[in-house]
Amino acid sequence: SAVPPDVAALIERRRRSFGAGSVLFYDEPLRMLRAEGAHLYASDGRAYLDFYNNVPTVGHCHPKVVEAVRRQVGELNIHSRYLFDVAHDYAEKLLATFPAPLSNVVLTCTGSESNDLALRLARKVSGGEGIVVTQTAYHGNTSTVTEVSPSSYKNGAPPPRVRMVPAPDPALFGNDVAQGFADAVKDAIAAMEADGIRFAGLLVDTIFSSDGVYANPPGFLKAAVDVVHAAGGLFIADEVQPGFGRTGEGMWGFSRHGVVPDIVTMGKPMGNGYPIAGLVTRPELLSAFCNDFGYFNTFAGSPVACAAALAVLEALEEDDLIANAARVGRHLTARLKRLQGRAPITAVRGAGLYLGVEFGTQDGPAPQIARGLINGLRQRGILIGAAGRFGNVLKIRPPLCVTTAHADELVDAMEAVLG
Ligand code: PMP
Repeated sequence: SAVPPDVAALIERRRRSFGAGSVLFYDEPLRMLRAEGAHLYASDGRAYLDFYNNVPTVGHCHPKVVEAVRRQVGELNIHSRYLFDVAHDYAEKLLATFPAPLSNVVLTCTGSESNDLALRLARKVSGGEGIVVTQTAYHGNTSTVTEVSPSSYKNGAPPPRVRMVPAPDPALFGNDVAQGFADAVKDAIAAMEADGIRFAGLLVDTIFSSDGVYANPPGFLKAAVDVVHAAGGLFIADEVQPGFGRTGEGMWGFSRHGVVPDIVTMGKPMGNGYPIAGLVTRPELLSAFCNDFGYFNTFAGSPVACAAALAVLEALEEDDLIANAARVGRHLTARLKRLQGRAPITAVRGAGLYLGVEFGTQDGPAPQIARGLINGLRQRGILIGAAGRFGNVLKIRPPLCVTTAHADELVDAMEAVLG
């Protein structure tokens, strides 16, 4: 079917204004008009069920967040060098979700800024330069953070001060993922130090989303974190993807692994779409950094940003969304595992409402099946994406307010598309 005229006209305007920087979803892009709960409404008159999005975690245009932003933006919106109450109401509620040593927060506007600052802190505190990341990681878009985001490179590779390890894939490491991954980290540290680069830290997304979603068994990260600390480095947990309850097992992905990071970074779901992100660490690490550098971020932690983020924490509790993520995630996993026997699926994995469905055939990874599903599901009114080194892992990541009926709608549609 042809792209409707209103969509074609916008695509043309987009091409003229945004040029090569413009990347669009789908063979037939969608023009979105509004959103509510788990659905987006497009100019074709259809509702699209959102299985892609982990920004509006508590639901698109959640009334509580909308009202908090509306109220605050009409009352006071200033930078963070004044005192205002909502910053403290938010910081205290957020920090209460962390283990005791992690008791300071720096607010930023994006996950990239949080990771950029985390790298500066880790390098300052360790006295090293070298960072270990996974092979298909994405951690953001500043020049320094792009270096630690191998998935961003279309040509070339990260510089020598960044070393890559494989994702913690049981298909690679066998039954003992913990030991295999820890050994890979240890080897990467030894190799960089042999080249005269001192180790600063390990930076991982604790659910390894862009690597293809690796969550299990819980606890597997502990051995690698021990290796990092024995080598004098810091462990930075990037919670931009798993954070704020998505795994259905508490607020943070690192907790599932029984580790306490030195630095935690967060973003996307934090303001349900209003730009707010952050870094949480131990006070002494932040002090060591602030002895040498000032840090100011004009828009970060403004009253409106804090009001949005506070409303998100309240909505997570009031709507019981972490328990919902666990419940719907269990149902979805069971249905996907039943589908596994009847489709070219090589693995179903993940935690809560962050699941990966890996496609492969006797010829190896099958990204064409994932791509076909993404466009086929869009035709059936469901939005979804893919990840992984080969792009063959369907990434299931809906707002946490989805129901088991929504989950059934997804799997029914997958069955129909897979034929
Ligand atoms: N870390 C991870 C794991 C991410 O997925 C992303 C965004 N996709 C970022 C960091 C960067 O966040 P932002 O786009 O807000 O800068």
